[in-house]
Amino acid sequence: MKHLFFASFIFLLFSCYKGKSVDLIVHNGVIHTMEDGDRVFEAMAIDDGKIVEVGPERQILNKYSADEMIDASGKEIYPGFTDAHGHLLSYADQLLSADLVGSKSFDEVLVRLEKYQSKQKRSFIIGRGWDQSLWTSATFPTNEKLNSLFPNTAVCLIRIDGHAMLVNDALLKRAGINSSTKIPGGIIHVEDEKCTGLLVDNAMNPVYKLLPPFPKEEVKSALLEIQQELLQYGITGVHEAGIDFEDIALFKELVDSKKWKLFTYAMLLPSKKNISFANKNGKFTYKNLVINSFKVIADGALGSRGALLKQPYSDDPHHHGVLTTPISSLDEIASLCLKIGYQMNTHAIGDSTNKLILDLYGRAFEKNKDHRWRIEHAQVVDPNDFILFSKHAIFPSVQPTHAISDQRWAESRLGKVRMKGAYAYKSLLQQYGMVAIGTDFPIEITDPFRTIYAAVQRKNEENLPVNGFYPNEGLTLFECLSGMTRWAAFAAFQENNHGTLSKGLDATFVVVENPIRISGGYEANFSWLTVVKGEKVFSRD
Ligand SMILES: [Zn+2]
Repeated sequence: MKHLFFASFIFLLFSCYKGKSVDLIVHNGVIHTMEDGDRVFEAMAIDDGKIVEVGPERQILNKYSADEMIDASGKEIYPGFTDAHGHLLSYADQLLSADLVGSKSFDEVLVRLEKYQSKQKRSFIIGRGWDQSLWTSATFPTNEKLNSLFPNTAVCLIRIDGHAMLVNDALLKRAGINSSTKIPGGIIHVEDEKCTGLLVDNAMNPVYKLLPPFPKEEVKSALLEIQQELLQYGITGVHEAGIDFEDIALFKELVDSKKWKLFTYAMLLPSKKNISFANKNGKFTYKNLVINSFKVIADGALGSRGALLKQPYSDDPHHHGVLTTPISSLDEIASLCLKIGYQMNTHAIGDSTNKLILDLYGRAFEKNKDHRWRIEHAQVVDPNDFILFSKHAIFPSVQPTHAISDQRWAESRLGKVRMKGAYAYKSLLQQYGMVAIGTDFPIEITDPFRTIYAAVQRKNEENLPVNGFYPNEGLTLFECLSGMTRWAAFAAFQENNHGTLSKGLDATFVVVENPIRISGGYEANFSWLTVVKGEKVFSRD
């Protein structure tokens, strides 16, 4: 003990005299700065949350001394990952609802609901994630058993794709829906002149209006749980793709509590209240919360044939999909964004919608050459239109795991010819020179290593399809990592704060448990240590 004391005294004394004093030194690592040319160093000096210097081991250890030294044991270090398109609040709602994902029968759905309710005692039960295609009968459920279990409590069970729900009679009554109700764009299932409780598409709207929000404190703790999940993967930033003005207060409270560590770039949905917030506040920065953009949803999804295509769906020749926001509104939002210096980020899946938005953004480009306006998903693009991404400097924001999840049916929706411009991340990258990469969680899981594998190998974690899904559209590992770090930062005007491990930028990084390799099949990976602005926020120990 005495020796140890003496030794540390000598060490302290020694460190006092040795080099410039900083808060933290990380050394013996493989530090990928993610700057151009991907320079790799061994050590990094950090002070006051910022990187003072990155360099060779001896250089940093000779020049600096620190109270805290981290030996990275030869592990790889990257700038903290950003998920450039996720939904924190929807994920929180999902965690607070009864989890029905993967139920093998409707009886299992009921068992899960009873279990959930015995613990939660909700006055309004919301469940999510059932999928009748996994059941032996494979037919849509009816609400009889639900009514006998919950005669007086409203129950709403949302299907996995969000395009159908099963509700009990108590809720049908509250929503004013009966067997003779007609709702344009929606289907109310009726058997023997009685509603079965199954509502499809627009028929769900009267119920959606009644869904109560979860208590604020519960949402906050769910968000902290999600943050923990993200930090353990080394994700330190999220571009939250669509929030309301009211949610800002909730994030501010989390920021004030000092528990919210994620850099959060929240895009506002273009509601009246949100627009007046933007008009009043302009660019809004509150510590690690930044609001400087609108998220607009221009069409639907490909799976449900809501994405707007130039030519009809290959598996439904009478259907082109739908534009969900009228062109006049899109124009208005674009003008507003130009006026107040906001970024416009538009969900566009179909090739027709992409063309429309590319043209719209092109008009903005004439007024601002560095608008960085984004197309979220850019999922199906007419190959003739790719050039517009470079011509008008339009930022593609993509989710490589969507390609892997959709590959089972994408070709039947689009046909072979259109597949040339679908999930074409390499082609998009070649136009703009950058892509921002995310997952769209909770639609996909948050795991960035799964994203890397999907982007580079174009395969899922079972290594399927064997030859990769249109592998010519795969990115290199460095391109994919760029999309999750420096390009994601650029997509949120943050390149002077984070995204590379460069002198003067935030000391926000991840030390990964295993080296990131993409040959030889998918391998699970995690963070060994996650640091945000010099503060350890997750550690495997
Ligand atoms: Zn999304």
